[in-house]
Amino acid sequence: MSTPRAASAAHDSGCDVLVIGGGPAGSTAAALLAERGYRVTLLEKAHHPRFHIGESLLPANLPLLEKLGVADAVKAIGMEKWGAEFVSPWHEHKQSFEFADAMDKSMPMAYQVRRADFDEILIRNASRKNARVVEGCQVKEVDFLPDNAGVLVQARHDDGSSETVHARFILDASGRDTFLGNRFKAKQRNKRHNSTAIYAHFSGAERKPGKASGNITIFWFEHGWFWFIPLADGATSVGAVTWPYYLKTRNKKPLEQFFLETIAMCAPLNERLQHARLAAPAEATGNFSYVCDHTHGSNYLLLGDAYTFIDPVFSSGVMLAMHSAFVGADTVDTCLRHPQQAAAALKKFDNTMRIGPKEFSWFIYRVTNPTLRNMFMGPRNIFRVKEALLSVLAGDVYGNTPIHGPLLLFKGLYYTASLLNPMRTLKAWRMRKHNIRVVDETGTAMH
Ligand SMILES: Cc1cc2nc3c(=O)[nH]c(=O)nc-3n(C[C@H](O)[C@H](O)[C@H](O)COP(=O)(O)OP(=O)(O)OC[C@H]3O[C@@H](n4cnc5c(N)ncnc54)[C@H](O)[C@@H]3O)c2cc1C
Repeated sequence: MSTPRAASAAHDSGCDVLVIGGGPAGSTAAALLAERGYRVTLLEKAHHPRFHIGESLLPANLPLLEKLGVADAVKAIGMEKWGAEFVSPWHEHKQSFEFADAMDKSMPMAYQVRRADFDEILIRNASRKNARVVEGCQVKEVDFLPDNAGVLVQARHDDGSSETVHARFILDASGRDTFLGNRFKAKQRNKRHNSTAIYAHFSGAERKPGKASGNITIFWFEHGWFWFIPLADGATSVGAVTWPYYLKTRNKKPLEQFFLETIAMCAPLNERLQHARLAAPAEATGNFSYVCDHTHGSNYLLLGDAYTFIDPVFSSGVMLAMHSAFVGADTVDTCLRHPQQAAAALKKFDNTMRIGPKEFSWFIYRVTNPTLRNMFMGPRNIFRVKEALLSVLAGDVYGNTPIHGPLLLFKGLYYTASLLNPMRTLKAWRMRKHNIRVVDETGTAMH
C-alpha cells in the first residue's frame, strides 16, 4: 500500500536501493531485493491500478512470475494465450503458430493481461516483500555523490511535499520516461526503426473458438500492422502500429475517427470487429524506438524500457523488462555485498541487457519485408528452424535452448531468398528506408 503522508511535510530517509518507477521492471526488482533483506524504496509517480499499454505476455514470462510468487494471481486475471495467428493481405491463407511446437516443450502458453491489474499485482507483491512502496511520488532529481558515497534522490509527492532519499544504489525503471537516459543525454533514437501506434479497447469483438480464443492475431496492412489481443473480461485490445508518416496524415481529424478509418483498411480485422464498439477512448503514441548508449554506472542500472524499447510486434517488452529486473537484482546484490566482484557483475548485466533486444530486433526490422513475411506465412521445420523461430516468439532467448544453429540457418535462408529475388529485395529496402524516415508535423521528411 502507498505510504500515507502529511501534507507539505518534507521527508528525509535512507535506503540501500531506490527504484524509480513501479512498472513490471521496478516492482520485480524491488520485490527480489527486499526479499534478500535490502532496504528498498520504490517511488512511483502514478497510483495503481493505472492504465498501461502492453497486454500480451510471452511463455518465458511464466517462470519469472512463479519465482516472484505471483503466478496464481496472474492466472486469475489472465486470458490464456496458446499461440499467435498471422494474417496477410498478400496471402490467401492465415498462419497459426502454437508455442507448444517451440523447441522447449515446457513453455506452451502465456497470458493476455489488463496491465492495470497485472502491474498492481506486481507492485503489491513488492510491498508484501517489505519494499517501501510510495505511489503518487515522482522522482525529480538525482545527484551522484563523490567518492562513491551513494546517491541523493529528490522526489515530489502528489500533495506537494518533497522527499529526499539517500540510497547506496539506484535502479531506473521509469519506462519510456527514461529518467536517467534523459539526464545523461544518453537516449538515442533508433536509426534502424521508427513506428507509432494508435490503440483502444473494444467490446463485442469476434474471438476464435475454443483454446485459440485468447491467441493474439497480427494483421499486416499497407501502412504497418495491427494487434488483436483478447482479454479475460471480454474486452479486446486492438492497436495499429504504423509508420510515422501515416499517423501524420490524421491531421486534425479526431483520433477515434482516424483509428476506425485505419481499421477499415484491413478487411479481415474489420470483419472481426463488425459487431464491436469502442469501450475506451483511443490513444496514440509516437516514435517509441530508442536505445540508451549505456546500461549502467558504478551505482545505477537502467532496467526495462528505461534502457531500450524497439517495437511491440513480438510482445517482448514486459518479459525483457522483468528479465532485466531479475539480472539487475543479482547485479545489485553482488555490487553491494561483494564490491570486489562488481566490475564482472556489471559487465555480465551489460551483456544480458543487449541479448534480448538483439535477438528480437533482427526479426522486428524485417517483419514487414515480403521475404520474411513469406517465411512466416509458409514456415518449414528444416533442421528445426520453425521450432527455433517459435522459441524466439515464446521469449526463450536467455536459456540453454539450442536455438542459435537453427536461427543461423533461418537467417541464411532469408538472405538466400533475398538474393534470389533482387528486384523485390531492392524495392523492399527502398520502401523501408522511406517508411522509417523521421517526419515533421506536416508529414515531410526531416534530415
Ligand atoms: C504501443 C505499444 C504496445 C505494446 N505492447 C506490448 C505487448 O503486447 N506485450 C509486451 O510485453 N510489451 C508491450 N509493449 C511494451 C511494454 O509496454 C513495455 O516494454 C513494458 O511496460 C516495460 O516495463 P517497464 O517496467 O520497463 O516500464 P513501464 O511499464 O512503463 O513502467 C514505468 C513506470 O515508471 C513510472 N515513472 C516514470 N517516471 C517516473 C518518475 N520520474 N518517478 C516515479 N515514477 C516514474 C511510470 O509511471 C510507470 O509506472 C508495448 C509498448 C507499446 C509502446
